[in-house]
Amino acid sequence: SAKASGKNQCRFYADSMNANAENKLAMVASLRTAVEEQQFRVVYQPKFDIRTGAIFGVEALVRWDHPTGGPIPPADFIPLAEECGIIVDIGRWVMRTACAQSMAWQHAGLPPLVMSVNVSPRQFDDADLLTDIAATLLGTGLPAHLLELEITESLIMRDLDGAVATMRELQHMGLLLSIDDFGTGYSSLSSLKSFPITTLKIDQSFVRDLGAKTEDQAIARAIIALAHELKLRVIAEGVETHAQLDFLRASGCDEVQGYLFGRPSAPDVIEALLQAPAVAA
Ligand code: C2E
Ligand code: MG
Ligand code: MG
Ligand code: MG
Repeated sequence: SAKASGKNQCRFYADSMNANAENKLAMVASLRTAVEEQQFRVVYQPKFDIRTGAIFGVEALVRWDHPTGGPIPPADFIPLAEECGIIVDIGRWVMRTACAQSMAWQHAGLPPLVMSVNVSPRQFDDADLLTDIAATLLGTGLPAHLLELEITESLIMRDLDGAVATMRELQHMGLLLSIDDFGTGYSSLSSLKSFPITTLKIDQSFVRDLGAKTEDQAIARAIIALAHELKLRVIAEGVETHAQLDFLRASGCDEVQGYLFGRPSAPDVIEALLQAPAVAA
């Protein structure tokens, strides 16, 4: 049974979204413990300017160091954390940790970076989102223009007017906003132009096959053209090969992120990378 599977218990429960209520309760309980006992950790993946090869930012990605089953990747616990609302606590912690890390790098003499943090629907809807972020910026000293929130099209489209209103407030605070996993949601072109965003992130599912002649090449080119028409920057995620990079560069993509350049890593690894010469140029 699932219960007997020991250290894979949590992964199993989170994976099978039809896990029974009892199993879910157990998983929720261990998520609560994880928050209380601070079992989470943040890793950072660099983002590169495709023309200069310079790192201009990093994306914060959470990991759960479960005492017996960890590290557990976000795909295996974010959906349940979202469903039961614990994501609000996790997200607040990730945001604070990431902003504090960004300032720690600056204090160590490294150039200022844009810190990107993923925000899921429940977090975005939380009544305290704006005050939490304001408090985090004040507490850490991170300037608002160095904090970017990555949100998805589907988050926005659940309540278009409400989401755009919140996005405007975040924009007024000085934050940057980007659309993650772009192309997999269903935002209309007419609504896209009203989003106060700075960047579109091409979903990695379109990047995967860019090395070969595929429809994904046409899709990637179309997203890049669309972004530029709307005066947005465009980043490709999940870049793993030089062939993908060559295609993206030839197509005018502005920024890249992926295993080819750097995996999500501990702060000291990022620090070393920031001291090394540019690699993507
Ligand atoms: P995402 O924001 O779209 O992040 C990109 C995912 O692709 C990350 O997986 C990253 O590790 C992975 N990745 C990066 N480069 C490559 C590559 O070259 N090849 C491949 N195959 N994968 C690559 P990860 O860290 O497992 O995160 C998965 C998702 O979980 C994220 O997707 C995001 O939606 C969510 N997530 C992660 N951290 C947080 C968080 O702190 N808060 C919230 N709300 N969601 C988070
Ligand atoms: Mg992201
Ligand atoms: Mg993404
Ligand atoms: Mg994704």
